[in-house]
Parts: sequence; structure tokens; C-alpha cells
Amino acid sequence: MNPYRNDFPILSTKTNGNDLVYFDNAATTQKPVSVIEAINKYYQEQNANPYRGLYGLSVESTNAYEEARQTVADFIGAKSSKEIIFTGNATGSLNLIANTYGRMALKEGDQVVAAISEHHSNILPWQQVTKEKGAVLSYLYLNASGHITEEEIEQKITGNTKIVAVAQVSNVLGTINPVESIIKKAHEVGAVVVLDCAQSIPHYQVNVQELDADFIVFSGHKMLGPMGIGVLYGKENLLNEMPPFLTGGEMIEYVSEQEATFAPLPNKFEAGTPNVGGAVGLKAAINYIQKVGYDNIKKIEDELTDYALTKMKEVPHITIYGETDITKERCGVISFNVDDVHPHDTASILDADGIAIRAGHHCAQPLMHYMKVAATCRASFYFYNTKEEIDIFINSLKKVRRWLGYGD
Ligand code: PMP
Repeated sequence: MNPYRNDFPILSTKTNGNDLVYFDNAATTQKPVSVIEAINKYYQEQNANPYRGLYGLSVESTNAYEEARQTVADFIGAKSSKEIIFTGNATGSLNLIANTYGRMALKEGDQVVAAISEHHSNILPWQQVTKEKGAVLSYLYLNASGHITEEEIEQKITGNTKIVAVAQVSNVLGTINPVESIIKKAHEVGAVVVLDCAQSIPHYQVNVQELDADFIVFSGHKMLGPMGIGVLYGKENLLNEMPPFLTGGEMIEYVSEQEATFAPLPNKFEAGTPNVGGAVGLKAAINYIQKVGYDNIKKIEDELTDYALTKMKEVPHITIYGETDITKERCGVISFNVDDVHPHDTASILDADGIAIRAGHHCAQPLMHYMKVAATCRASFYFYNTKEEIDIFINSLKKVRRWLGYGD
């Protein structure tokens, strides 16, 4: 029995009369009781608008928020909590970087390099800013097994490259990208690196100083935390050089009729009342992940993924996209299709058996075009999933074609 499941109340609920099998962890993860209780406690005992009030409760709220910021800073090995900006989600963080650093650094003819497997959140902000500046957005393409090769990195990151924006783990293929090589090459040519850690940090330790990443982004809700809280880490010197993004309350130093000066980091980038309850929930999520331990998380997930890949390969008429060997830089996100069946039909048939998977383009249409598919099904695991759940998933998969009238 998986020792963590009891901490997640939703995992013992039923859907369509069946025990829930939750395999959509790349979209969002479920929440342990400790996270739900931390948020409750904040709203029951500490809620007030932080920074503004001179009364005790407001100070408590400010302290709770700043403690959460310090927890995040320690968690990713940042030099200072000033380098941690709370946003709404990874998307908010990426838009902030493109609209501030991107606008400031790019000029005509410069190049932004992304991977073709990026989530739309790491493509659209760069499309907009490169168009505005007359810069070029170009892509690192994947080899047949879904990996970015060293040759591709050497060729595409050039003297014109000013920004490299890549995900550490693909949300479609589960591929772990060679970010160490990408960062090394980017820094050799003087470019800054934006790492999208939305799919990596729930599963792997990310240390910004060891990686020497210039910016990283992630979402709380994909790592056991609540929705509505995200993180932007940036090196202090870069954040200091950047203009603010959203403007308004909390981010100012002094405002006159026509002019304003801005607050120091991190407040310069946090206009308006922040999501203190979300930050408190994220801190509890980090504590939970650290209690389970990344080594343990990886061990459980690798075993589950290997088991699922092996069993899926035994089912006829299934195509798995990308790397199918767990030892080769991939994690527990599996994109697949059942021959002749639209992914939405597969997802609906699985849903009838209580299994939640994702079907569609996964906010990665350029990758879908590159792979020449319209859509895929995606099963994604977390450390609270079990082999028994994978058996239920495999049995349901075996039924899909029969339900739709195919002989086998
Ligand atoms: N990047 C990646 C790799 C993702 O998988 C996602 C979410 N699917 C995002 C960015 C965006 O995350 P959010 O919707 O929480 O902003």
C-alpha cells in the first residue's frame, strides 16, 4: 500500500461509481490534508491585508507571506528571498519576464530560442515581444525519440541569441531536456536562460545556483499547492535592471501627480493585494514534498512509469510518443494514442471506469504539428499513484477499440 494516499482525501473518492484513478497530475496535482489545513488556518486565524495595516493581524499576515517567500528561496537555493516574486502561476511569471526583460533586452534581428515542445505559456509571450521588437523566435527541434540533441543546441544558440526559454521537462512527452548544456551554451554566447520548471520541480530538486539559471518559473498547483500562486525566480541584478510589469498599490516608493518611483525587490513586481493564503499553502506543499523526499519521489515514479510503459507496449494498437525507455531522460508523463480512435473518445471511455487522463493538444500545438498529430491522450503520474491503478488503466485501455466496434 502506498503510504501517502491517506494524506490525500480526494484519492479515496469515487467518480462514475468507480474508485478515482487520477492520472492527470501534469495538469494539476491533488492536495494533502496538511496543505488544506494550512490554508484554512491562515483564513481562520491570520487573514488581513499584509503590509498595509499597522495592527497585529496585518503584521501576522505579512509575516506568514514573507516566511513563505523564504521557504521558496531556501527550497530552490536562491541567494536571497528578494529574488522570489510571487505571481498567479507559471504563465503569469513567463508573461512578466517577456514583457519586462524581453522588452528591455531585445532589438531588431535578435533571437529568442525556445524548444518546439514548449507549452503555449512559454511561446506566446515570446511571439508577442519578438514581433514588437523585430526579433526572431526560433526553435530547438527534437530527434525521433523526443530529445534535444547537443548538435541542435550548438547550431541554434548563436551570437544573435539573447534569450533561451525552455522547459526542464516537457508536459506532453515527459522528456527531461538537457538544460545544463543549454544553459552552458546560452551563457557562452551571452544569452540569459528562462527555465520553465512547471513540470520538473514537482518531481526533481531544482537548485538555481547549481544550474546557474537566470530565471525560473513554476506553479504551486502542480506541486501539491493551491491554484493561484506561482513563482518567478530571477537573479537579483537582472530583476533590479527590469522595469515593473503590473503597476498600482504595494509596488511603489513614492507617487506624485505625474511620476512614481518603485519599491525595492521583491515588492516592485507584486502590484496589488497578494495571495497570502496561496503562499501559505505553497509553503505547506514544499514542506510535504521535503518530508517525502525527492529521491523517494523519483524512485516511486520511475517504477510506476516503467511498469506503465511495459504494460502499454503489450496492448495492441497503441502508439506511445517520444522516449519509451525510463532510463533515458524521461519521467512519468506518457502521451499516446489508440489506433483509429480520437483521443477524446479514449478519455471518455476511461472516464467511465473512473480514470482521469488528459486528451487534446496539451497547450502545445507547435509540438503537435511537429509530430504530425492533432491530439494525444496523456497519462501522468505522481508519487501517490500505484501499480494497481495502472492495472485498472491498462484493462480499460484494452476495451477502447472493442467498445468502438473494432474486432480487436
Ligand atoms: N509550462 C508547462 C511546462 C506546463 O506544463 C504548464 C501547465 N500545463 C504551464 C507552463 C502553465 O502553467 P499554469 O497554467 O499553471 O500557468
